[in-house]
Amino acid sequence: MRKKYLIILILIIMIACTNTNDMTATQIHPLAVTDTPSASLPTSETDPVPPALTKSIELSTVPAPKDDFFTEMGIALSAPTCSALTQAQTEGPYYIPNSPEKHSLLEEGVTGTRLILVGYVLDQNCLPQSNTWLDFWQADANGEYDNAGYRLRGHQFTDAQGRYYLETILPGLYSSRPIEHIHVKVRPEGGAGVTSQLYFPQRPMEGLTVTIEERGDYLVGYFNFVVQK
Ligand code: FE
Repeated sequence: MRKKYLIILILIIMIACTNTNDMTATQIHPLAVTDTPSASLPTSETDPVPPALTKSIELSTVPAPKDDFFTEMGIALSAPTCSALTQAQTEGPYYIPNSPEKHSLLEEGVTGTRLILVGYVLDQNCLPQSNTWLDFWQADANGEYDNAGYRLRGHQFTDAQGRYYLETILPGLYSSRPIEHIHVKVRPEGGAGVTSQLYFPQRPMEGLTVTIEERGDYLVGYFNFVVQK
């Protein structure tokens, strides 16, 4: 009988030990589960920022937006207003296709009164037209066109707000056209566009005259194009 009780006692102790191991395993398990996903939890504010991220947010590496020109020149365009469509005029004999893309026609050898021409391109509903192609060409201050190259010729595209800006000089007079003018072609995306000419207040042309603001040694000219889309 004693042997029997002893065996039973040993069995009870063994079962008890087995349960203790199970309990230990159960207690460890949740910790193990907690440890694993903690690596993917959001990092705390005190965590170091990875070097690559720090580099990507350096503002100095971001290219200057086009908008900077208007800011730098202190030019604030008023809200666009529309009247009639910009009237078409002949392109004349001096147009040369495939002009270079540039906002400034100033270069070595180009002299005269500096002019900054700015404005919107709008459609018939007065909506600004981004990515509109504009091609400008003009005579120099002596009234001469460069018909061998692209001096005082250049094209550009309006920005996201439908604005253009051109840095150039006031054109001179030439014998067959005793009125200062700048030639332009304007073609919005999906539209036929218009070929026309811009004029100046001293010898104006109705509907095509630039509004001039005098600024010391240069002029700012304002003109909005309205084109059919
Ligand atoms: Fe001309």
